Amino acid sequence: MARPRDSQRKRVYTAEGVLRDCAEDREIRKLKELQEYVDELVSAPWFRERWPHVESVAVRDGRGRKRAGGSPLYGTSSGEITMPKRMRTTKIVLHELAHVVAPVDEAWHGKRFCGCFARLVYNVMGENAFTQLTTSFRTHRVKYVL
Ligand SMILES: [Zn+2]
Repeated sequence: MARPRDSQRKRVYTAEGVLRDCAEDREIRKLKELQEYVDELVSAPWFRERWPHVESVAVRDGRGRKRAGGSPLYGTSSGEITMPKRMRTTKIVLHELAHVVAPVDEAWHGKRFCGCFARLVYNVMGENAFTQLTTSFRTHRVKYVL
């Protein structure tokens, strides 16, 4: 499926950098622990309520890949994220999960993707992290809709 041009991708990467200094951004090294972490998120009531169509998300190893990745569902109920070793942090997991839950008819890092990411950050990392992220979105002229 052809998607609109990903015009704010760079600005999203820059803007989300604020979360690196966040106390809630922790590292989860082991693949098994990452999968447990994601399973817990996906089965949480707030997640079920918001994205009931997403039933499960598999965490893939990502060995040999430079970047983490998240695939949208494309008609199924199970998504997938790929997490290379050095990218296994809360912030990156949430970014990739946002790719799974975000609508597929807009740019990869479009305003609804950013809204999904911000919601995940709110629920997982807390209000303080959410405020930092959305403030940074505005500073870097990243469009988002909650
Ligand atoms: Zn992304």
